[in-house]
Amino acid sequence: MTASFGDGTRCVHAGLPEPVPGQPFLPGPVFAAPYHLDPVTGPAAAPDGYGRPDNPTRRGLEAAIGELEGGDCRAFATGQAAITAVLMSVLRPGDTVLLPGDGYYTVRSFAASTLEQLGVRVVYAPTAGPYPSFAGVRLVLLETPANPGLDVCDVSALSAAAHEAGALVAVDNTTATPLGQRPLDLGADITVASGTKALTGHSDMLLGYAATRSADLLGRITTWRSHTGAIPGAFDAWLAHRSLATLDLRLARQSANAAAVAQALAARSDVELVRWPGLPDDPSYEVASRQMRRIPGVVSFDLGSAERVGRFLTASRLVFAATSFGGLHTTADRRAQWGDATPPGFVRLSCGIEDPADLLTDLNASLS
Ligand SMILES: *Cc1c(COP(=O)(O)O)cnc(C)c1O
Repeated sequence: MTASFGDGTRCVHAGLPEPVPGQPFLPGPVFAAPYHLDPVTGPAAAPDGYGRPDNPTRRGLEAAIGELEGGDCRAFATGQAAITAVLMSVLRPGDTVLLPGDGYYTVRSFAASTLEQLGVRVVYAPTAGPYPSFAGVRLVLLETPANPGLDVCDVSALSAAAHEAGALVAVDNTTATPLGQRPLDLGADITVASGTKALTGHSDMLLGYAATRSADLLGRITTWRSHTGAIPGAFDAWLAHRSLATLDLRLARQSANAAAVAQALAARSDVELVRWPGLPDDPSYEVASRQMRRIPGVVSFDLGSAERVGRFLTASRLVFAATSFGGLHTTADRRAQWGDATPPGFVRLSCGIEDPADLLTDLNASLS
């Protein structure tokens, strides 16, 4: 229904019910474990019977995200729950999965702790490549831009090569969001993401989702969710849907702030390895410019030591020390403190929606 509109219009209207006089634009959360059943025909008579598989508030959110991603969506309690659902509903003992070596670290931990013990062969490739042959691979998981290093890969080319070899492709779209790129349009079979980050953007909830155009994959993911119960609660589903309406505005400011911040950081001789895929001399610039409709608000760089990161964050008045990213407030995270394989002074900075001039003044002062 909203496909022909621009991003702002699509975000505001995504997943809303038809107007009904006397009803709110976005109906409030429906809280129910069991619902009333028809005393004679039982669950067949109504769409909602029990809260784990059925919730109308969650379906509204799924309709909204599905419209933005261009597929059928299932919401999960967290991004990690959604990624686990994709991996576990596709992979079987003896299968091979290819994961990003530089992607979200908990996915690698899960692969090492659980997938390998279930008899799944796990191989890794760096997001920027080179990629091995996909022969014999059952599932290729891409993450682009990769978190936290911000390398970007060519989803269309890699999906074509994977399909040629008989592999399925899932793309972690957390950092880009569906307004940055639509992996299903680029040829991926599944788009999966954390909604905890820029999608909902207020640093107040955890959420995940997977979306696909394949009825078979959707069925397997839905069954996995019903069997394992990794659903978001009704209030979180409602809050996420409410937050989606401002996604276009939030991303526009975050991206503009990141452009200004990346340029300012690159101009400083005391900051190393500034990465932002929108900088013309960034290694990811060319593929990001072709593939992405907008560049996210996350910038990464190296301050050389943990001690200097500590001094920078202590001096700053606007940059909160915090993990996660994509929120309204500018935050910075020294990734090595979480065990991520990054240098000790490596920082992932997530630009919020503050005024760019204030952010630049604070950033330059606190770095100096
Ligand atoms: C945060 C994140 C996840 C995990 O999401 P949670 O909502 O924290 O479970 C997965 N992938 C990427 C790229 C992330 O940044």
